[in-house]
Amino acid sequence: MTNIVLFGPPGAGKGTQAEVLKEKYQLIHLSTGDMFRYNMKNNTELGALAKTYTEKGHLVPDSVTNEMLKEEVNRQLKSNPKGFLFDGYPRTKDQARVLTAFMTEKGTEVAAMVALEVDDEVLVGRLLERGKSSGRADDANEEVIRERIAEYYRKTDILKEYYQGEDKYYGVNGVGSVEEITERLSAVFDKL
Ligand code: ADP
Repeated sequence: MTNIVLFGPPGAGKGTQAEVLKEKYQLIHLSTGDMFRYNMKNNTELGALAKTYTEKGHLVPDSVTNEMLKEEVNRQLKSNPKGFLFDGYPRTKDQARVLTAFMTEKGTEVAAMVALEVDDEVLVGRLLERGKSSGRADDANEEVIRERIAEYYRKTDILKEYYQGEDKYYGVNGVGSVEEITERLSAVFDKL
């Protein structure tokens, strides 16, 4: 299997690119944000818990997120996938460690972290724009958007170093048209 972590701050375009790349490379796209939104929409217990964090722009606790992710990976493994495209996970050092151990347990590994690099002010603008149509409560409020970006720098950004330490980090310019960015990402994916 070839497993890739698509990385970047909120609004970097991970979800948009994942939709294209999962088809192109036949990978299973796993977005923890989508999983939480699915649970919130369906009023599950997990959704109710997640909402108390997402609505403030904070991360959901690692134990909850890790369990949810593992369960979904286990479910998907039954169909013998070519690999996973992780989107929005891992987002903390604890999550990265859990993912490494879990992949090892499954006889595979994370091949690379491919990061979309975008300036903060561009991110805020994109998220506010998305909020007009996405129906996402966490995109509708500038304060929540800024808190998500702050949370990214507090807890997530350091994962670059984690994967750099394993020689698995690839940064890509995330500003441009969707097609241009897909091309830049594909140039990295093709090497993996
Ligand atoms: P974005 O990257 O645009 O902020 P996501 O859709 O990836 O949005 O995530 C939405 C929210 O779901 C996050 O703000 C956070 O509260 C929660 N979430 C998603 N992924 C994780 C994760 N790996 N760990 C903890 N919380 C997460």
